[in-house]
Amino acid sequence: MSEEVAERRETPGNWARALAKGLVTPAQLAREGLVAPGEAEGLESVKEVFDIRVPQALLDGVRAGDATLARQFVPRPEELVFLPEELEDPIGDERFSPVEGLTHRYPDRALLKVTYQCASYCRFCFRRYKVSDADNNVGPEDLERALAYLRAHEGIREVILTGGDPLSLTDAKLSPLFASLAQIPHIDVVRIHTRIPTVLPERVTPELLALFRGTGKAVWLAAHINSASELTSEARAALGRLVDGGVPVLAQTVLLKGVNDSHEALVSLFRALASLRVVPYALHYPDLAKGTGHFRVSLPRALDLVKGLRGRLAGYAIPRLVLDIPGGTGKIVVEPEWAEQTGPGTWQFTSPVNGTKTVVKYPEEQPLPHA
Ligand SMILES: *Cc1c(COP(=O)(O)O)cnc(C)c1O
Ligand code: SF4
Repeated sequence: MSEEVAERRETPGNWARALAKGLVTPAQLAREGLVAPGEAEGLESVKEVFDIRVPQALLDGVRAGDATLARQFVPRPEELVFLPEELEDPIGDERFSPVEGLTHRYPDRALLKVTYQCASYCRFCFRRYKVSDADNNVGPEDLERALAYLRAHEGIREVILTGGDPLSLTDAKLSPLFASLAQIPHIDVVRIHTRIPTVLPERVTPELLALFRGTGKAVWLAAHINSASELTSEARAALGRLVDGGVPVLAQTVLLKGVNDSHEALVSLFRALASLRVVPYALHYPDLAKGTGHFRVSLPRALDLVKGLRGRLAGYAIPRLVLDIPGGTGKIVVEPEWAEQTGPGTWQFTSPVNGTKTVVKYPEEQPLPHA
């Protein structure tokens, strides 16, 4: 390998350049024609509260007026309209944080927020009060304390790296972190929650895959993807590299008004993901984050949308509708009602194919026969 090639492989090079090409100011958005010239000034006050980064990877689509992309990344004045129900920390991350940077809500899993930087700033982000501000990032001492906590709690089997976007960190920053996790024997799984495959696909490098393999753990990746138009050829290739590299990829989708709140939008997204060997894992009902009211769909409509998928898509291509209970008492699955008990042993089921109701009487459960 020539020295020049080695150099290029070791530095973030291409992906750092792509990252820097994102649009970050209202003036840039106006110059690109993405907001009306008269709107840019008003958006300065939005930017002061919620940072902007329209990713270069999706800029062509945004420029072409694709609303499913523009609504996700281009700021709107409505973001400063706060509803009384909306919260700064909608899912109670802080309440369940025993040490800085770590949230431990479930006995077997813990979240480690390794950075609050992202490669794009989503206008509906549930951690929008934290993201983008480097002052919120865990310092080396806090990180050491979080790792000590993980070492001391043997019930934790899975560490979920999140933030912010963990993959916005360089390999040089990730490498010692992965090395530390690799040495904790009770951790079997490292899950990475990231937006990178669609907003900065160049970041999925062979070196990154080698870092994952180097942990000796099962590394799972949960990719945040909300619309089929995010699946550019580069994004598809990045997802392919991950799956080919032995990383199971799940998709997390946020249900967003004007982005994916239609049967057609959801079907085309989940079909596309299945064709890319990505499993649609969760459809998130939007958290009550401040200034996100213009994205929220009513819960009955959300339920109707997921109900409409059953019987029309392969079972593995239908994500669960999940909701974080405000305040932080946990994530739940909200299910359409397919089954209703109508009497002892008697159930009424609704067909996902044509809505027919079928009443079934099941015989009583029998004891195990003696050998
Ligand atoms: C969402 C979340 C998890 C992961 O939950 P899964 O159901 O395993 O996807 C883990 N810990 C915390 C604190 C969470 O908020
Ligand atoms: S990538 Fe995730 S953490 Fe970052 S702004 Fe978007 S939703 Fe928030």
